Amino acid sequence: MKYGFGIDLGGTTVKIAYFDETGAMLQKWEIPTVTTDGGKHILPHIAASIRDFINAYQINETAILGMGIGVPGPVDRKGVVNKCVNLGWGVFNIAEQLTELTGFPVKAGNDANVAALGEYWKGGGQGCDNMVFATLGTGVGGGIVIEGKLLHGAHGSGAEIGHMVLNRNETATCGCGKHGCVEQYCSATGIVRLAGLHGMHNVTCKDIFDAAKAGDKVALEVMDEYYEYLGEFLGSLCSVIDPEVVVLGGGVSKAGEMLLTGVEPYFHKYVFHAASNVKFALASLGNDAGAYGAFKLVLDSAK
Ligand code: ZN
Repeated sequence: MKYGFGIDLGGTTVKIAYFDETGAMLQKWEIPTVTTDGGKHILPHIAASIRDFINAYQINETAILGMGIGVPGPVDRKGVVNKCVNLGWGVFNIAEQLTELTGFPVKAGNDANVAALGEYWKGGGQGCDNMVFATLGTGVGGGIVIEGKLLHGAHGSGAEIGHMVLNRNETATCGCGKHGCVEQYCSATGIVRLAGLHGMHNVTCKDIFDAAKAGDKVALEVMDEYYEYLGEFLGSLCSVIDPEVVVLGGGVSKAGEMLLTGVEPYFHKYVFHAASNVKFALASLGNDAGAYGAFKLVLDSAK
């Protein structure tokens, strides 16, 4: 049996998990992400934590295939990170540096793409070869699996689906600097903003879901408008990708089945007819998706 590590590097914590080659998660733990000094302590801390784990459990290193890491920014296939603003990182090869520090082969990917790979492998997308994964949280991120392979893109920024443009007349500015991005409408932030336009102020996303579930007329209108934005966005995207499954994760997916049944009619209004036979599913790995996907990068590269 072979083993390896999956690492999900976030702005505040690093999640590290130890897997066997079947994808069983044997251990997981977290360390804080120390972003001082331009983020230069982050990789040495990860390497030291893994070294401590190997020593503590007297792990046979010849059985370790390597480690995968999901990074909050663009990463190309060779492992070159192209600026992770919230870590203080510029441009460098994370795979090479982490290999130097640990002695193990390293594969790196963008965190949202890697989480998509995790959901494809062990979560809501299991058993499908073509999958669109969208995380509807503070922003909108995602990942795309095509014929069993994760889309990385030529510049490591494949599947930045939150920055597809939905409304060219938008005047508010998106976090990316453009106007009218999917993220401005389809994120949790977008729902709260829509609620404001309907006169619901000082409410959270959960308040709106709860009110909609209780049959509140205004909340139902807000959700209906939200579902149309989401349906338009996913319909356009699926006309290109033609997936078997769309997996929805992030804070908005806590709305549960209501979200899936709400978006479906609008999805069918916008999607190309031949690509319309799509199953909608909720993400099922939660915060572990990144670690699963990161380890899958290692397994795929070892084939
Ligand atoms: Zn944007």
